[in-house]
Amino acid sequence: MRGSLVVGNWKMNGSGASNQALVTALTDCQWSDSVTVVLCPPSVYLGQVQSLIADSSLVLGAQDLSAHASGAYTGDISASMITELGCQYVIVGHSERREYQQESDSLIAQKCLAAINAGITPIACVGETEKQRNDGETFSVIRRQLDVLISTLSTEQLEKTVIAYEPIWAIGTGLTATPEQAQEVHQKMREQLAGSGQNMTLLYGGSVKADNAAQLFSQHDIDGALVGGASLVAQDFSAIASSF
Ligand code: 13P
Repeated sequence: MRGSLVVGNWKMNGSGASNQALVTALTDCQWSDSVTVVLCPPSVYLGQVQSLIADSSLVLGAQDLSAHASGAYTGDISASMITELGCQYVIVGHSERREYQQESDSLIAQKCLAAINAGITPIACVGETEKQRNDGETFSVIRRQLDVLISTLSTEQLEKTVIAYEPIWAIGTGLTATPEQAQEVHQKMREQLAGSGQNMTLLYGGSVKADNAAQLFSQHDIDGALVGGASLVAQDFSAIASSF
């Protein structure tokens, strides 16, 4: 269902002590009840963060999961394991995993299925490189990435998926897509998702900060953000969640 969503992707950051300080500070912050705020710590800290957020409105998410249910997959984590730790969301196919772990569009679609079958909402990431944007390939890249999801998932499964548009050139660079650039891609994605598009939550990610969030969220087809760096600072992340 379409709704306002702000997701903090901590990536490979944190420690027992810093997590405690960050989450405790966030549990004291306030934002509109209509916004869902999700924290995605590294998997080894999911249990810790789950206990820290137990009495708050914060929601837990993981950064990845295996497409397999169980078995000989050393180092991997299954959907049922992250469900047991209280995860309601999982990021899938982040560009860093596409690049460093060679994750393909079809593997990403399988991971989405594994999440949905376990009752977890996948946040599937798409996005173009700087070269692809400069070469005018942005829409064809996004279209190809979304096509695999559309052909693998049923309509019902697709509508249980969140899509995050994260232009790779905007991740961790301080270069944010302009609200117009982001809106243009979001609109095209909704068109491609056809009937399902109107029911789906679409996020923007890439250098979202307290001072640009409101403008991004005011765009018609942008429902929220997938936040990296700014999600590690309670004041900044809370300001983003309050920007609707
Ligand atoms: P930054 O917000 O640090 O640019 O990271 C974006 C991102 O990759 C979130 O998944």
